[in-house]
Amino acid sequence: MNVEQQINLLREELRKHNYNYYVLDNATISDYEFDIKLKQLQQLEDAYPEFYDTNSPTLRVGGEITKNFNTVKHDFRMYSLANSYSKEDLEDWETRIKKLVDGDVEYTCELKYDGASISLTYENGNLLRAVTRGDGYQGDEVTTNIKTINSIPLKLKGDYPPRFDIRGEIVLPFEGFNKMNEERMEAGEEPYRNPRNTASGSLKLQDSSEVAKRPLDCLLYHIVGEKLPIETQFESLEKARNWGFKVPEIAKLAKNISEVFEFIEYWDEHRHELPYETDGVVVKVNSLYQQEELGYTAKAPRWAIAYKFKAEQEATVLNEITYQVGRTGAITPVANLEPVELAGTIVKRASLHNADQIEKLDIRVGDTVFVEKGGEIIPKIVGVDLDKRPINSTPTKYITHCPECQTELVRQEGDAKHFCPNADGCPPQIIGRIQHFISRKAMDIDGLGSETVALLVENNLIKNYSDLYELTVEQILPLERMAEKSAENLIAGVEASKIIPFDRVLFALGIRYVGETVARKLAKHYKNIDALANASEEQLINVDEIGDVIAKSVIEFFSSEENRNTIQRLKSFGIKLEISEEELAGQTNKLEGETFVVSGVFHKVSRNELKQLIEKNGGKVSSSISKKTSYVVAGDKMGPSKRAKAEGLGVPIISEDDFLLMIS
Ligand code: AMP
Ligand code: ZN
Repeated sequence: MNVEQQINLLREELRKHNYNYYVLDNATISDYEFDIKLKQLQQLEDAYPEFYDTNSPTLRVGGEITKNFNTVKHDFRMYSLANSYSKEDLEDWETRIKKLVDGDVEYTCELKYDGASISLTYENGNLLRAVTRGDGYQGDEVTTNIKTINSIPLKLKGDYPPRFDIRGEIVLPFEGFNKMNEERMEAGEEPYRNPRNTASGSLKLQDSSEVAKRPLDCLLYHIVGEKLPIETQFESLEKARNWGFKVPEIAKLAKNISEVFEFIEYWDEHRHELPYETDGVVVKVNSLYQQEELGYTAKAPRWAIAYKFKAEQEATVLNEITYQVGRTGAITPVANLEPVELAGTIVKRASLHNADQIEKLDIRVGDTVFVEKGGEIIPKIVGVDLDKRPINSTPTKYITHCPECQTELVRQEGDAKHFCPNADGCPPQIIGRIQHFISRKAMDIDGLGSETVALLVENNLIKNYSDLYELTVEQILPLERMAEKSAENLIAGVEASKIIPFDRVLFALGIRYVGETVARKLAKHYKNIDALANASEEQLINVDEIGDVIAKSVIEFFSSEENRNTIQRLKSFGIKLEISEEELAGQTNKLEGETFVVSGVFHKVSRNELKQLIEKNGGKVSSSISKKTSYVVAGDKMGPSKRAKAEGLGVPIISEDDFLLMIS
């Protein structure tokens, strides 16, 4: 077997396993074996760039950066849907339809997935581009990001037409959404409000490898094109499924409107069992011939209508408002409710977000409030039943002092939340910071759990995470339920954390807004803690993807005497506060401020190595040529359109050798 055959075979295999896992939900290979094969393919592709394929499975991991998304006109307009809210609305719709078409009308019933709509264009079975809905006429091209979504086929199977568009919804299933939020909260960031906005925000991230990390899914529902071999909507769903798309099996063919009602009633009750969000049912005239006859209004097809589920809402009594203090000192007001059943679960608490929210809705203890479980996972209070307000009720006075340490709260301009500024003396903040420090993604200290941290703090054995490194077995043995073995494990776990690399240590410090990714960026840029601590706000903002909010937070952290002392102590215990020799090897700032586009086939180094060299030397790699491009590194077979673009913009085109000279 020659190299090309080997590459093709690997691609084919990986595609199949990917399809089985992400579309059919039926794994046919272990993750480990999959990774091995993917690595093999990556190596071959690096070594033989002449076999590059824009739809290779290796592209699923992302890595390309898009600074500006191109605007692209849809070949076929993306319409909206008319809404209905009752059986009567639907019956009226049917009456209108029956006046316009002859014969019986059948319907396809589908769920209305709540996400971000997308239009995918396939040509000869290859994904050509992916475009957001935009204004319906034109949208943003987000192909590189879309390729990272595993359930979207990059190549089709079966008897697909030569060219068509397929539309669907990018959704973020609850499980993945909740996991992302847990991570955000660990980093001291505000959780995302709902899966839909998070899904649509994901499509516009500049770094496609960030998109790859998000567990997005894509559910398809509509094929458009010229002269397609399809006669009904229901058939088109089956076909799409055969070509490799993920099309929920839930869709049903209804012979008449009363079967449509059955479908609606069933899913109104059962939709909460689904792994993703839905907000209604879409009813479509099944025959494409009838669809054509019915046509479109200015905004929506006449042949389809959405039926919106009622948001689940219940009335219950607000017993008390309590206030939680997070590890960053942020105060969150929480509504403690008379337990009530909502969307299949018992709700006892709801978030009140912040003081403004309470004031806006004039929410008072003793009120009967409406609780809703809409897009948001955490139930929210959407209003007050004023008729039921007790006569002696008084407006809610937001707390002025921390419920845990009685320090006066502060609220900075532009911040919706109040904060307890007593970072070093407020117990939940002290405990929360240490819990964050030891957490899995930070210092990953085995043998030390969250409850033990609280116990250690309460017993005055530690006040700060740096104190962990001076703990002794003798000190902790007297603690409640602490056996000798677990005491030893705890100390060993603390000791072992000294090998955790700098970027994770930086994350562990718990600087507000410095999550995992930002920590990695800062570590890579500054290389050691002193350089970071001495950076000015302007310098920080100049680091790629660091905005002023993060910059201010970093400055604030290092301006605290206490924090500086803590870091000195960590240093003295041997915690890694700089990038290691190996990571540092070969790194320079020679290309700082320069952006490169790499195109073509190279001889001395592979395309990937070239990109790594650019980054190692402080440069940036971009996928498309623009005014901001400093150089195009051109190999053999560079595309003529790229060359023309570079020349048109006056971007210098350099050879592989020129580039290597630049960094030598
Ligand atoms: P709206 O945004 O309320 O006008 O509703 C129209 C949108 O519903 C479309 O743009 C799609 O993104 C979305 N949608 C979700 N599920 C479906 C479905 N099964 N069929 C058609 N559209 C759907
Ligand atoms: Zn406090």
